[in-house]
Amino acid sequence: MTFEEIGLHPAILKALADSGYTEPTPVQAQAIPAAIEGRDLLVSSQTGSGKTAAFMLPSMHKLAVAAQDNPQPALKTPNQERQSARSRGERPRYAPAQPKMLVLTPTRELALQVTTATEKYGANLRRMKAVSILGGMPYPKQMQLLARNPEILVATPGRLIDHMNSGKIDFSQLQILVLDEADRMLDMGFIDDIETIIAATPAERQTMLFSATLEGDVGRMAERITREP
Ligand code: AMP
Repeated sequence: MTFEEIGLHPAILKALADSGYTEPTPVQAQAIPAAIEGRDLLVSSQTGSGKTAAFMLPSMHKLAVAAQDNPQPALKTPNQERQSARSRGERPRYAPAQPKMLVLTPTRELALQVTTATEKYGANLRRMKAVSILGGMPYPKQMQLLARNPEILVATPGRLIDHMNSGKIDFSQLQILVLDEADRMLDMGFIDDIETIIAATPAERQTMLFSATLEGDVGRMAERITREP
C-alpha cells in the first residue's frame, strides 16, 4: 500500500514526498490505516522501524481533517489577550493550553526527535504546532510555549505533571494519547506519573502504545488503558 492509497491528507503527502519517503515501512502500513479508522493500537516496534511516523501521520491527518471540517475562529494572540486583560483592569494571565494530542516519551532526546519529525510532516499544514515539555528546560520558556496553545504536546512525564499541577494544561479537549517506548518509561519508574496523566484525559480518547515488548508490566498497563486494540 502507498501513502496515497492509505488516503493521507494532501499536505502530509507533499511533506512525505519532500522528505524522500517513497513507501510506508511495515509498521506504518499496518498502523496508519487502523489509526485513521479510530482504533486503539498496541505496537511492538524498535527504534528505526519508522514508528514515529506510524503514530504521527494518522494523528496529524485526523487533526487536519477535523480542523477543515470544523474551522475554529482565530484566537487572540497571547499579547492581544494580555492587552485586553490590562484594559479591563485585570491582571493578565495565561489561559491553560488545551492540546488535542499528547505524546509521552521516556527521554528529552526522544521528545525532541518526535517534535522535529512533527514539524517536518506538518510543514504544509496550518495550525499544527507541536511543543516539547521537558525536564531541565526553564519554566518561563515552557510557559511561553504553552501560551501558544499548541495542538500537539510532546512531553516527558515528570515535567508534564508539574505543569498540570500548576493549572497550565487542560486535557478536556484531548483526542489522541500516544505512549512512545512505554517499556522504557516503566523501567524508568514513571508508572505513577503516567497513571496520573491518563486519569486527567477523556475516557473516549484514542490511545496508541508503542513498546519494544508488550509483555509483563507494559502488557498489563496496555490492557487497562486501551480498548480493543
Ligand atoms: P523511527 O523508527 O521513527 O525512529 O524512524 C527511523 C528513521 O526512518 C527516521 O529517520 C525517519 O525519518 C525515517 N523514516 C520513517 N519512515 C520512513 C519511510 N516511510 N521512508 C523513509 N524513511 C522513513
